[in-house]
Amino acid sequence: MAKTYSKQTVAVQGGVLRSQFGETSEAIFLTQGFVYDSAEQAEARFSQAQPNEFTYSRYGNPTTRMLENRMAQIEGTEDGFATASGMAAVNGSLCAILKAGDHVVASRVLFGSCLYILENILPKFGIQVDFVDGTDNQQWAHKVKPNTRAVFFESLANPTLELVDVEFVSKLAQKNNAITIADNALATPLFLPAHELGINVVVYSTTKHTDGQGRAIGGIVLGTKDFIRGPLESYMKHSGGAPSPFNSWIMLKSLDTLNLRVNYQADTAMHVATNLEKSTKIRKVIYPHLKSHPQYTLAKKQMKKGGTVFAIEVEGGKEGAFRFMNNLKIFRVTNNFGDAKSLVTHPATTTHQRLTQAQRNSFGIHDGLVRVSVGLEDRDDILEDLDTAIQAI
Ligand SMILES: *Cc1c(COP(=O)(O)O)cnc(C)c1O
Repeated sequence: MAKTYSKQTVAVQGGVLRSQFGETSEAIFLTQGFVYDSAEQAEARFSQAQPNEFTYSRYGNPTTRMLENRMAQIEGTEDGFATASGMAAVNGSLCAILKAGDHVVASRVLFGSCLYILENILPKFGIQVDFVDGTDNQQWAHKVKPNTRAVFFESLANPTLELVDVEFVSKLAQKNNAITIADNALATPLFLPAHELGINVVVYSTTKHTDGQGRAIGGIVLGTKDFIRGPLESYMKHSGGAPSPFNSWIMLKSLDTLNLRVNYQADTAMHVATNLEKSTKIRKVIYPHLKSHPQYTLAKKQMKKGGTVFAIEVEGGKEGAFRFMNNLKIFRVTNNFGDAKSLVTHPATTTHQRLTQAQRNSFGIHDGLVRVSVGLEDRDDILEDLDTAIQAI
């Protein structure tokens, strides 16, 4: 399908590979491998497999290939490689690019496991990593140097909802011949067109909005054909991060409704965040498209909507946060986001527990901070549930 179709259309129709039966819905090719007409064909397949020819499902699979094609079309990249988890995608993209002696610059507020790879794993292999305040363009400009090989950040940071000026950082990296990798999971491809804004390699945890219904873990790396079918595929297929074809199928079917789901969730999130700002028991509501967000202008410029997640800081620190969470009826206490079910997370004691108190405070992950992921329930019910729990603080 040509790239001129809208994201909504390619999310439904893009990348379909139909078998000889002409099935309507995408088929699940739940097979570890493939058979050949002859020994010669097997030899040829192994030496020069064409994009839609397969040998082994750790290398590639028709269901997974449909997902890769579809996600690449939504993002507008040439190609993609689906992985078993978001972390396999983050790790794979970094390992495919970096070698000993390389320098990386990353934003400091990151999903816990991303931070672990950059802080603990990469340095073991002789890679030097510098962290910056991702919101501060001057710090990026100061740290990105001619020997910088890669730049890594979350376009919208979890859970503080800070933004990185994507165009600024990608231009800066390009000037220094560094490759930009953006984890765009929280922002979604529909609200923040990371590749259009100049990012070379875009990474998603498809566990989040892509599945969006809490069933499967998955990830994807998107980029140029040369990168994806070159170093990235080599790293992934030999290190074994392939997804189950069944999980790829779940993700594919979920993409049919991605646009409807995340737009509805984002509209509800905007409505609810706006209303909660009036509450006196809340210190602040953090949401990119609220005027009170410190990067509101940038958020309006680079994000079509504010996303499906906001954060609130309640009075009373951890105790206040727990009382609030325990009084919710619709919202479930968990650590996912982007789900059909409305969810709340207390980052300081769960996803970001590993950090020191000082680190958390400097990142803005205070004890009273609660991350709120808005689901597909009725927006009046959602607001009432939050309001009632806030009264209990
Ligand atoms: C969840 C998440 C990941 C990791 O994804 P998994 O699918 O859990 O491996 C990476 N980055 C961000 C921003 C995430 O939210």
